[in-house]
Amino acid sequence: MSGAPRPRGVLARWEAVLPLTPRTPRITLGEGDTPLVRSAAIERELGLDELWFKLESCNPTGSFKDRGMVVAAARAIERGAESLLCASTGNTSASAAAYAARCGLRAGILVPRGRVAAGKLAQAAAFGARIVEIEGGFDDALRLARELAANRPVALVNSVNPDRIEGQKTAAFEICEELGDAPDALAIPVGNAGNVTAYWKGFRECAELDRASRHPRMLGFQAAGAAPIVRGAPVAEPRTVATAIRIGNPASWRGATDARDESGGAIEAVSDEEILDAWRLLARAEGLFVEPASAAGVAGLRKLAREGGLRGGRVVAVLTGSGLKDPETAREHCAPDMAAAPATLEGVERALGL
Ligand SMILES: *Cc1c(COP(=O)(O)O)cnc(C)c1O
Repeated sequence: MSGAPRPRGVLARWEAVLPLTPRTPRITLGEGDTPLVRSAAIERELGLDELWFKLESCNPTGSFKDRGMVVAAARAIERGAESLLCASTGNTSASAAAYAARCGLRAGILVPRGRVAAGKLAQAAAFGARIVEIEGGFDDALRLARELAANRPVALVNSVNPDRIEGQKTAAFEICEELGDAPDALAIPVGNAGNVTAYWKGFRECAELDRASRHPRMLGFQAAGAAPIVRGAPVAEPRTVATAIRIGNPASWRGATDARDESGGAIEAVSDEEILDAWRLLARAEGLFVEPASAAGVAGLRKLAREGGLRGGRVVAVLTGSGLKDPETAREHCAPDMAAAPATLEGVERALGL
C-alpha cells in the first residue's frame, strides 16, 4: 500500500494545541514522537506496577530541547527574526544551532566557559553557531542574553520564551496518547525548570481536552549542589556532575513550584553519587545510555522508594538527553571492562575468558 507519509514533527502533529498561525513556517528536523519504553529491571527494584522511560534522547539533536526549539524558531521566523540567541549549559545551544542552520538563521550562543560537555559544544560548532564563552555560570549567561534580547533584533530562545514551553508540553500529550491516560506520577530532572513547567501545562491541557482522566503527581529532582528550589533560595555557585542542571537561579522557578503544589507532587534533591549510581544502572540494567542530568529523575525515584515515599502505580521517567553528549563523564565514572591481547585466536580467547 502506498500513500502520503504520516506527518512528522512537533508542528505538524500537534498543530491543534500549539500557538501557530497559517503564516508560521512548518519546519521540522523530525523532532518529537519519541519512544516510551517499559523498564526491564528498575521497575521491580522500585516496587512499581509500571515504570516507563520517555526517551527524549531520540530527538534530532539528542535532547528534549528540540521540541520547544522548533516552535520558538518557527515563530521567530514568522516575526521576521534573522538570528537566534540563547544562554545554555549545552543542549539548548546544540538545538538552537541546528534549527538556525536548517532555516538559514544565525545563532549566537552564550555558554559558561569550561562547563559544557564536549558533545554539545561539538554540535554547536558543527552547525556553525557563534559560540561565546562567558567567564561565569549559566545564570550570568542567561542574564546577559535577556538584556541583549531586550535591545537587539534577536530572538531569545531560552525557555523564558513561552514558545519553548508550548513545544515541550507536547511530550505530555504523547505520553497520554500512548498510555491511554496520564500516568500516576512523572519523574523529571529540574534545572532552569522550563521542562517541568511545560509537562505540567501539557498534562493539565490533556485533562481539559479529555485526553486524560486525571493529572500525574509531578516529581522533580535537582542536584544537591544546585538545588535552589528545594532550599528556597538561589545558589550562587551551583555545583554538580550533571552539567545540564547546574543552575542556581531557575527562570521558571514559579512554574516548578506550581507544578509541585497543584499536582500534590514533590521537588527534592539527589546527590551526585545518587545521580551517577542511577546513571550506571540505567546503562547496565536497562541498556539506556543517558547524560548524567537525565538520570536525576530515576535517582530521585530510588531515593523516594528507599524512604517509603513512592506509592505504586504507573510512573513515567523522562530521560532528557543522550549519554553521547558527555563522553568525559562516562570515561571518568565507568571503568571499562577492558583487556589487551595479541592478534591471535588464543590471545583473544584468553582475554575474553572463553
Ligand atoms: C535542559 C536539560 C535539563 C533541564 O531542563 P530544565 O527545563 O532546564 O529544567 C535536564 N536534562 C537535560 C539533558 C537537559 O538538556
